[in-house]
Amino acid sequence: SAPILDIRNLNLEFSTPRGRISAIRDVSIRIPENKIVGIVGESGSGKSTVVSAAMRLLANNALIPSGEVLFEGEDILKAGPKRLQELRGQKISMVFQDPMTSQNPVISIGQQMTDVLYRRRDLSYASKRDKVISMLRKVGISDPEIRFEQYPHEFSGGMRQRVSIAMALLVNPRLLIADEPTTALDVTMEAQIVHLIRKMKAEFEGSVVFVSHNLGLIAELCDEVVVMFAGEVVERGTVHDIFEQAKHPYTRKLLECDPALLNRRTRQLPTIPGSVPDLRTRPDGCVFAERCPVARPDCRIHHPKEIHTGEDHFARCLLLENGGDYTFADVLSPK
Ligand code: ATP
Ligand code: MG
Repeated sequence: SAPILDIRNLNLEFSTPRGRISAIRDVSIRIPENKIVGIVGESGSGKSTVVSAAMRLLANNALIPSGEVLFEGEDILKAGPKRLQELRGQKISMVFQDPMTSQNPVISIGQQMTDVLYRRRDLSYASKRDKVISMLRKVGISDPEIRFEQYPHEFSGGMRQRVSIAMALLVNPRLLIADEPTTALDVTMEAQIVHLIRKMKAEFEGSVVFVSHNLGLIAELCDEVVVMFAGEVVERGTVHDIFEQAKHPYTRKLLECDPALLNRRTRQLPTIPGSVPDLRTRPDGCVFAERCPVARPDCRIHHPKEIHTGEDHFARCLLLENGGDYTFADVLSPK
């Protein structure tokens, strides 16, 4: 079926006093209907930039030289301000790492949540209030009538994140984007929030994009996975493709760092030794070549194409071109 969100060959730059930074290079991501897609990658790999482009919530210094961001077939990059407001208010919602950035400290939770429903002129205040209270109850907030009157500081971190999720889902969006929603929480809270996202996804029947450093959480929650490195998608596929059949040396390295990864929730993404390329002068060749244990000389010269390695499975590695492959052992014990 047609994807709900289809990012095609997106390039994005930030202009800075020290020149242009190529933050996103030729990124393609498909979010199918009714699926949870995880985006994983180390800090600075461009995860937030990509999802912000999908909401058109970009910093003023962002430039998009080329690419398309199709939401239900409509290019969001071409939408005017009014249309963007409509999309954000009705179709696409976002939950951030720190709920304090999306909740106003001086307005009660109930007021902020009923405000989200401002478009629903068909609803009286009393029925908006009912809707909000029932949504608060659904996300696991007890005594929602009392909570309705309270302010963000009266909620714990985990509860505030539940409120953010409730607020995001009030408009019944087609797509929920959660950018590291559990990073600020402890492990118990994190597990509860992940459980809640899964439960709510089943209920609202939309799609979810879940951004995380944590491969264990991604394995647990997601149907599909996108692996980013230095502003590029190096590999994408189903959870099975990525965790059992990884093709890209970077993905294989990540998994190798922790063989017990699938069973562990707390695991943060390990950093693989070596530096991330300077984004002001992108290398001609592969972005991972400097750190890649199986790189060949031509990996530093040719930028790899995205190779189709299975039904929904793609990887960007020169060694996979022309039907070539290398073994997992090559990555584990480089010659
Ligand atoms: P994290 O895991 O730390 O949240 P991320 O994967 O979300 O990282 P981004 O925040 O998308 O990474 O950043 C991608 C790159 O773009 C980084 O090099 C970052 O420094 C740069 N960047 C992001 N926003 C801007 C901006 N407004 N101006 C200049 N550079 C920016
Ligand atoms: Mg980020």
